[in-house]
Amino acid sequence: MYKLLKSLALLFPPVKKLYQKVNMLKNQCEDLQRQNVELLKRNNEYYKNEIDLIKKINELGSVISDNYINKEQYYKLIENIIPYIDLSHIKSYYSCNALERFDMIFNGYNGHHVNRENGCLEFCCNNQIWDIPGVDLLGTPEESIIKFVKMRNDIIAESKIIALLERNDSFRNYTSDCAKCNRFKLVDSVKNDGLIHYVNINVFPAPCQCKCIYCEVHNGQLGILDREKHNNIYDRIFNAITYAKDHGMIAADALWQAASGEITINPYKDKILDLIGNNTSRFLSNCFIFDEKIAANLHNNPLSEINLSIDAGTAETWYKVKGVNNFNVVVENLFKYKEICNKPEQITFKYIILPGINDNLDDYNGVMDLMKRLCVKQLIISRDGNVEFSNDKNHHESAIKAAGIFVKILKTNNLLYSFYHHSTDEKQNIETFTDL
Ligand code: SF4
Ligand code: SF4
Repeated sequence: MYKLLKSLALLFPPVKKLYQKVNMLKNQCEDLQRQNVELLKRNNEYYKNEIDLIKKINELGSVISDNYINKEQYYKLIENIIPYIDLSHIKSYYSCNALERFDMIFNGYNGHHVNRENGCLEFCCNNQIWDIPGVDLLGTPEESIIKFVKMRNDIIAESKIIALLERNDSFRNYTSDCAKCNRFKLVDSVKNDGLIHYVNINVFPAPCQCKCIYCEVHNGQLGILDREKHNNIYDRIFNAITYAKDHGMIAADALWQAASGEITINPYKDKILDLIGNNTSRFLSNCFIFDEKIAANLHNNPLSEINLSIDAGTAETWYKVKGVNNFNVVVENLFKYKEICNKPEQITFKYIILPGINDNLDDYNGVMDLMKRLCVKQLIISRDGNVEFSNDKNHHESAIKAAGIFVKILKTNNLLYSFYHHSTDEKQNIETFTDL
């Protein structure tokens, strides 16, 4: 566009003036780019506070935007400016819970980032968008963790600057992928101590002896762990966590989650559980096995919990959904965990509604009976992640109706519920069934 303007200026004198103006501003911008550090320091004296400085950037940004001059320069400008300005006074900007809480997610050995064979560390495990922000586990654990922390700082800083400048999403660089995510919303910044508050060890490949019909571990190659091949990845992950832990980067009250296929039969179980120690934890388990080490954490930390995706209230449906005929063994193990726990709230259930399979009154009543006997207070109602974003309207309508009926029954029995994997509109739709 700039070259075109230059050519037009040569041919048409009236365009010359515009070209000269754009050229002057372009030079100004490039100049600032070249000398960014020194200039910013000097500018800081001239522009007495950050707001003035940012207003100046905004003016330059307008020029870049309005005249279609290299947007990369604008990104570079923002990147260079981030270390020099205090953005703590900007309280309202686009972000999400995962970024604000500072989540550290090991989701599979390459997360969502395909062809990254070194392991990956991400801020979320959102499967709505593919390229979620994260870093490769390259180099030393220190390098990986520092890169991860810097990425989060840059994401939040950019989002704050964009909020202040009232820029649209086309100006996002670090946050361009997040801008596609429905969890990226206007937030009111909470007090941020800069520490990691959630560590999710959800590493694959990892084995599981269950065969849930909706599970990609069971249905794909993610359950086949080859220690010779994958040891390196697991080591990188454990070293990164150890580095963050040893350097005080994980908050004392952080929540740790262990999933990884089935944690009780994971060959790295001891290493994972040793890293977790007695920290507040959530163990996602199929409960086929009662595990003493998990039980010890539940006993020693009343804030820890074990979560079972129960998905059935009868032995028949359990077999259909889980592919293994052991409902009674699982129920026995749940009672063993209840014995060892300090509070009944330490056992939690999820129910993935599968229309036509587990959305009947026998199953709903069976789950409620078990909840009452185990003193489980709340049911997390979820959906099959494989069809969450499909266009199958009939499936969605059946799933919403089934959830609505279940919620109504839970309410009638004074049991609490929450939703997982449902949009705000869907939650409202589900609630309408409770008024019938
Ligand atoms: S992709 Fe969504 S959930 Fe993940 S960090 Fe970005 S905004 Fe948050
Ligand atoms: S228990 Fe979990 S990992 Fe195992 S098959 Fe079911 S969903 Fe998959």
